[in-house]
Amino acid sequence: MKVNLLDLKAQYHTIEEEVNKAIKEVLESSHFIMGPNVKKLEEEIAEYTGVKYGIGVANGTDALMLTLKALGIGEGDEVITTPFTFFASAETTSVVGATPVFADIEKDTLCIDPDSIEKNINERTKAIIPVHIFGQMCDMDRIMEIANKHNLIVIEDACQAIGAEYKGKRAGSIGHVACYSFFPTKNLGGYGDGGMIVTDNKELADKIKLLRVHGSKVKYHHEAIGHNSRLDEMQAAVLRVKLKYIDKWNNSRGEHAHTYNELLKDLDVVLPTERENCKHVYHLYTIQSSKRDEIIEHLKENGVASGIYYPIPVHLQEVYKHLGYKQGDIPNAEDACTKTFALPLYPEMTREQQKYVVTKIKEFFQNK
Ligand SMILES: *Cc1c(COP(=O)(O)O)cnc(C)c1O
Repeated sequence: MKVNLLDLKAQYHTIEEEVNKAIKEVLESSHFIMGPNVKKLEEEIAEYTGVKYGIGVANGTDALMLTLKALGIGEGDEVITTPFTFFASAETTSVVGATPVFADIEKDTLCIDPDSIEKNINERTKAIIPVHIFGQMCDMDRIMEIANKHNLIVIEDACQAIGAEYKGKRAGSIGHVACYSFFPTKNLGGYGDGGMIVTDNKELADKIKLLRVHGSKVKYHHEAIGHNSRLDEMQAAVLRVKLKYIDKWNNSRGEHAHTYNELLKDLDVVLPTERENCKHVYHLYTIQSSKRDEIIEHLKENGVASGIYYPIPVHLQEVYKHLGYKQGDIPNAEDACTKTFALPLYPEMTREQQKYVVTKIKEFFQNK
């Protein structure tokens, strides 16, 4: 049996007719840039999140970059984030000229640790970017408490977590502003790049809207130096179809994750933990083992894909050498990078596929 990490084609086939119709409508309308689907998707995602404004942009990275820029964060400023994430969570801080500062993560959830955030705050700190890693929300009560105490902005990196909940509140609705990615492999993925910013702050939303189209409100009149970072109409049309299914798909991910937990419980691997009173949407189902690389090799030999998330913590990336971090500075994140890996998980996955994956992991431990 062959099991992929995910299967976008299987998902496409479940919504093929609807998606084809939506794309055809865009083609027939010939309204390819900033058309009605972008506007409607912005409203629908804002409503889904539980906030007032949505601003569609070209991708999740631009969502973060434009947000930082609109907040006036730049040279001399520091932004605290986690090193256990996709590079863009920190990269965007550097793109706007500010400096990323890395806090450690909680050993169990792998989310940024509020205590470590607090230790890294100084007079240059302007914002915190908690990343809801693998689809589980950070400890937002504590993070907001710290942010309010020190007068800091909280930008939720919800790129992996649309639909996740923290004590009844959706990802993206607790911080001052939040960013989504619609990269094809994300829980809500387009058929190309896409992203969105959501916020209750009208002034900030207006500023971001300005920056996404060349600093212009009225064509050929420019009041700021901006970017070309619009969400594509075709992607918006696809995403509007997919948004209808996001809860169903997220719930399937959760069920498959719990099946894995049950099937793997007697093995010598660390299973993912869920924060109390929260909904984890399992963008990735990750486990930990000090024998990670050997397990991955054995799975590969048997047709099972898996993925290392993340092989190198961001603070030890080559490009950030000048920041002066050394091995050992951020122990939990570094440790997670040596042990964590993702097993195949997607909504359309079958129980037979899951059982096969687990059988192969069991086999690995029996042959040891
Ligand atoms: C995917 C991702 C991004 C970047 O999104 P793109 O749409 O690929 O630019 C940022 N942060 C996190 C945590 C992500 O997973």
